[in-house]
Amino acid sequence: MAEKRLCKSITGKSKICYRSAAAAEKAARRTHCGLSLKSYICPICRCWHLTKEEPLHKAEAIPSAAKLRRKLRAYGLLIAAQQRRFDESQAALKLAQEKAAAEQAEVELALTIMSARSYGRKL
Ligand SMILES: [Zn+2]
Repeated sequence: MAEKRLCKSITGKSKICYRSAAAAEKAARRTHCGLSLKSYICPICRCWHLTKEEPLHKAEAIPSAAKLRRKLRAYGLLIAAQQRRFDESQAALKLAQEKAAAEQAEVELALTIMSARSYGRKL
C-alpha cells in the first residue's frame, strides 16, 4: 500500500495518507480494532487520513466557551430590551384604554344631558 507522510496532526505527528476512503478504513480496522477511527479527505494534500475526532474540515469550528458566553450575554440583553419594550407598550395600551373609557363616559354623559334637555323642551 502506498503511504506517504505529508500532513502533520496538532500534536506534530505525521499523518498517514491513504489513496482512498476504503484504504483508510481498511487500515483503521487493521491497526485500531474496536477504536472508532474516522476517515476524511484532506483539503491540503487531497488524500485520506484517519482521525479519532470528528473531522474538523467538514464540520464548523467549535466556538470557544468565552465566545459562547459573550453570545449568551448578548441574547440576554436583547431579551431584556424586548421585554422592556413590551412592558412599555403594555403600559401605553393600558393608558390609551383608560383614556378611551374616560372619553366614552364623557360622551355618554353629554348624550344624557342633551336628551334630558330635549325631553325638558318637549314638556
Ligand atoms: Zn493531508
